[in-house]
Formats: sequence, C-alpha cells, structure tokens
Amino acid sequence: MKQQPVDKSEIYDEFARLTQQTKDLVASVELLSDQLTKVLAENARLTIENEHLQEVVAAQQPAKPEEDLSESRKMLQKLYQEGFHVCNDMYGKRLEENESCTFCLDAIYGRHN
Ligand SMILES: [Zn+2]
Repeated sequence: MKQQPVDKSEIYDEFARLTQQTKDLVASVELLSDQLTKVLAENARLTIENEHLQEVVAAQQPAKPEEDLSESRKMLQKLYQEGFHVCNDMYGKRLEENESCTFCLDAIYGRHN
C-alpha cells in the first residue's frame, strides 16, 4: 500500500488552527465561568433580599390569617361577625353595635385548642 505524501506545511497550518481554536475555547470557558460566578452571587443576594422582604411583609400581616383557623373557629368567627358573643360567659348573646369583645376574639383567634 502506498501512502499519500504528507504535506508538512498543511500539518503545521492545521496544528496552528487547532491551537488557536483551543485558546479561543479556553477564553470562552473562562468568560462563561466568570459570568456564572456573577449570576450565582446575584442569585444569592436576591434570595437573601427576598427572604428579608418576606419577613418584613409577614411582620405586617395580622398575626392569625383567616385560613389558619380551624373549621370550628371559622364558625365562631362567622357568628361573631354576625353580632353574637362566642365567648364562654356571653355565648349566643347579642353584641352591641360596633362592640368588640376581647373574650370572643380570644375564643376565635387565641392560642389554645
Ligand atoms: Zn364575648
């Protein structure tokens, strides 16, 4: 079998071309790595900021959101909103207009079961 004569200058050109491509690739990877680092840092910063803002928002919400109430407490709340006492002492009695009852509020929203 007769081999094709090898053109040395072609090999050098090819080698030079591949070398340049490799350098370009390395430069691209370094640039990408740099950008990734910046994106991750920005992401971490935003995550912390978001958590902080959620804490601020949560601190401004009423302590007991309605959806946290159990079914029985929701029923008490409904009765209370319709103008009836739901506390032990006055249960079922009419509230005065615009009257609020601390004991009723405690029965609905208080920290007990
Ligand atoms: Zn009451």
